[in-house]
Parts: sequence; C-alpha cells; structure tokens
Amino acid sequence: MFALIDGNNFFVSCERVFQPQLRQRPVVVLSNNDGCAISRSDEAKALGIRMAVPWFQIKHLEQQAGLVALSANFALYGEMSDRMMSLIAELGPKQEIYSIDESFVDVCGLNNPLERSWALRQKIWDWTSLPTCVGLGPTKTLAKLANHIAKQAERNPGSYPAEMAQVCDLSRLSPTAFKEVLIATDVGEVWGIGRRLADQLRECGIHNVHDLAQLDPALARKRWSVFMERIVRELHGQPCLEVEDIIEPKKQIACTRSFGQPVSQLADLEEVVATFGSRAAEKLRRQHSVTSQVLVFIRTSPFHKGSRFSQSAITSLACPSADTREIVRAAISGLRSIYRPGFDLIKAGVILADISPASLSQPELDFGAASATSSAPLMSAMDDLNRRFGRGTVRLGSVALPDTPRLWSARRERLSGRYTTRIDEIPYGCA
Ligand SMILES: [Mg+2]
Repeated sequence: MFALIDGNNFFVSCERVFQPQLRQRPVVVLSNNDGCAISRSDEAKALGIRMAVPWFQIKHLEQQAGLVALSANFALYGEMSDRMMSLIAELGPKQEIYSIDESFVDVCGLNNPLERSWALRQKIWDWTSLPTCVGLGPTKTLAKLANHIAKQAERNPGSYPAEMAQVCDLSRLSPTAFKEVLIATDVGEVWGIGRRLADQLRECGIHNVHDLAQLDPALARKRWSVFMERIVRELHGQPCLEVEDIIEPKKQIACTRSFGQPVSQLADLEEVVATFGSRAAEKLRRQHSVTSQVLVFIRTSPFHKGSRFSQSAITSLACPSADTREIVRAAISGLRSIYRPGFDLIKAGVILADISPASLSQPELDFGAASATSSAPLMSAMDDLNRRFGRGTVRLGSVALPDTPRLWSARRERLSGRYTTRIDEIPYGCA
C-alpha cells in the first residue's frame, strides 16, 4: 500500500501562507526572469490560464480580473517544502521525496492508512498552512492516480464522487465503483503517459484508464514497451515500483540561467561563470562528490533577429576535485577559449560532468593540483561559514557580491520576502 502526498498549487500556496490577502484571488507564480506561469491558483485556472503560458499573454488580466503575478521565490518554497516533508515522514518508515511538493510513503502494514492520511493532511494544514491532497493505492501508479482524483474531486465538484475529495483511497472501492472511476479518467492522467503517448493510445481506441487497464500486459510490452507493461500491471494492482528512500547522488550538476538583460563583455561573463561555477561546486560538495570535467556554454537568444552565437567548451581537471577554485579556474579558461566579442548573449551555464564519489578519489595521483583531500578542510570551512552567515559570505574575488543587481541578474520584479530564511524579512502582523 502506497500514499502520495502532494501540495496543491504549491508555489502559490507558499505565497499565501505569508500573504493571506492572496487567498480567494487569482494568483500565478512566474518562472525565471518573470517569463511564464509555473504555478496557478484554482481561481487563476478558472480564468483559463494554462500551465507555462507566457506572462505577456495574460498580463491584461491584472487589470481585467485582478490577477496577481509573483516572481518565483525558491528560497521560500524550498524551506516550506522541508517543513512539509518532515511532517510527511511521520506517516510511515519509508519516504521518497519525488519533487519539491510530492512525496511517496510506503504505508504497508500500517493500521488505518486512510484515517492516518486524513490526520496527516490536517496536521500539515495546522502546522504550515499548506493545503495538500493524499492518494492511496496498492501501487505507486494507483496512489498517483488517487491523488489526481482527490484533487479533481475537490476542484471540480461532480467530476468524481464528493467523498473522494482531498483524500482518496482507491483500494477501498468496490469493483464497480473502481471501474467507474477508471472510465471517468482520461488516459493522459496516468503517471508516465505523456502527451505523445496519450495520443498514440487514443489512436488505438484507448481513451480512458479503464481501456488501458484492459490491455494484456504481454501485448502492452510487445506493442509499446516494458515500460507500458509495467504501467498496465501497476493499474492491475501488482506493484512493480518501490518507494526509493535512498537519494542517488546526481551524475551531472548544472548551474545555468538566462540573463535579465543581454551581456556581451568578457569581464561580465567571467563574473557570471565564476558565480555559477561556485554554486555548482557547492552542490557537488553537498553530495560528497568530485568532478573531472567542467563544461561552460554561452549563447544568444534562439529568437534573436541579429547574428547568433552558441558555443561550449569542456575543460578537464588534472585530478578529480570539488575545490571551488579549481572548478572556477577551469570554467573561466573554457569561457576565454570560446568567447567572441560583439554578441548579445542571453544565457550561460556551468555543467559538471563525470562526477564520482569523493571517497573514490586517489590522492596519490596528485600532479600538483589542489587535490580533493588537501583542499577539503578549506572548502568545508567555507561551506560552514556560508551556511551559518548566508550564501556568499566567503567567496572567490571573481564572484559577484550577493544581492547586488547586475546586468545579468534574473528579472524578479515581483518577488515576495524570504519570510522563513532571512531574519530581516520576517513579516509583522501576519494573520
Ligand atoms: Mg503539486
């Protein structure tokens, strides 16, 4: 038995915790550079605002319908997510944090998982003011489907029986009721079925989840893939997937961003690359890994009318390292090798490839470079200070000062406060 707990309209809900005046109003959160809508309140969805719609296409709704748009505030969402996840962890012994607002819990052998799910949902609301829905089912795919139903039943009354709203347990339905629910659900809502696959299935006469569940697993494998066979088996209630409570270290770490305004000077780009390289190195050390390949890229906008430019370079480190100085040096030397003056560059990134565990690095193969072992105490002292006193407290001289606006800084004109992580941004009189 599995539970999937998912925050409703998560980014918008985080904003509403500290700005209760935003409740009952149409609200969207915009992506990097205030580009497009990445989270929408139910009221915004009711206005017909689609996911990922560009801001300029809906801007008129500010005047016409009282739409409120906010810049993405990941400092706030990440910390609210931690609070929510730590409460969810109380539901069962195995938890898989699937995304910033979604978590699977293995509730096998638990007494009364339905009652406990209701209690958990209430506790998350009482302690964090975040609304959630819980889906329960005998497989992860069915738990995910149950969560979708719990949300829809709440948001669109009449779409499913009202008692399925907020917390939905598919394992408690009678065979007839279960079949009705599957028939009422579009095949594209199944976990793992993307838009293209859904179109293919519809062409074969498979329109709803019941149609898909009717497929013979062997045929599903023959006609589509092992992946499709697994989906069909999971819909039948045969678990093929487990709750993965061990987080695998990432095989690649990237820090890439679009600029608020075009950049063309090498000095500015060096600052960008040093800043991104430092962030990537911090992430690398957090998962106790080292890298040996540092990729840097710069490019103009793909929509740019004038001359376009897109180039990348890989620099190998003499010895695998997690030292910010080594990584930034490699990134800047890569940048200098590809840089050409006279282009309006709009995006850059530093990507660390060929990542391995720091414990496997061989200090005896140190050819004069600062090896992972010799610079580790310095790097961990730097990380400790930055954790304690705020990001960028100790940094390389080439890295931009924190909170100093730059030409390349992302546009975030509608940013709310970092209410939970900055003492000077704690709101007063918050209801
Ligand atoms: Mg969600």
